[in-house]
Amino acid sequence: MLEFVMLLALWLVCAVVGASVTRSKGRGSAPGALLGLFLGPVGLLITVILPKNEGGLEAEQLEAGDRRRCPQCAELVRREALKCRFCAAELTPLPAAESQPAPAPSPRRLLAAALVMAATILLVSYVFSGARAPADPYGIEAQP
Ligand SMILES: [Zn+2]
Repeated sequence: MLEFVMLLALWLVCAVVGASVTRSKGRGSAPGALLGLFLGPVGLLITVILPKNEGGLEAEQLEAGDRRRCPQCAELVRREALKCRFCAAELTPLPAAESQPAPAPSPRRLLAAALVMAATILLVSYVFSGARAPADPYGIEAQP
């Protein structure tokens, strides 16, 4: 039973970590979550090996508003940049980005955090119960 719980926790961790790995590679979180969920550590390894989706990453950065495209060379540069770091073209200054309040964590993020916490608790409780069992610190078994 405990082995099953620990395995479940490990798989959940793989799913959550896999999701963040594929998201950081511009592929969204779904593929990594599925790989981790079905293949566990092997799936996690696959997400690590996966190449980055440059187009997806660029689209994300443009959407987030912290990058813009250089009109000369079409590379992404910082929004505040006055000179392109790729082709050294002069860029027109943009009005400062309105200071937006930090976006509230999405339900997916919260779910992922909850899963990681649950898995961590399971793992910790498993480790502690495993370490305590043979020692019999309360002397229950020794009593006549
Ligand atoms: Zn440029």
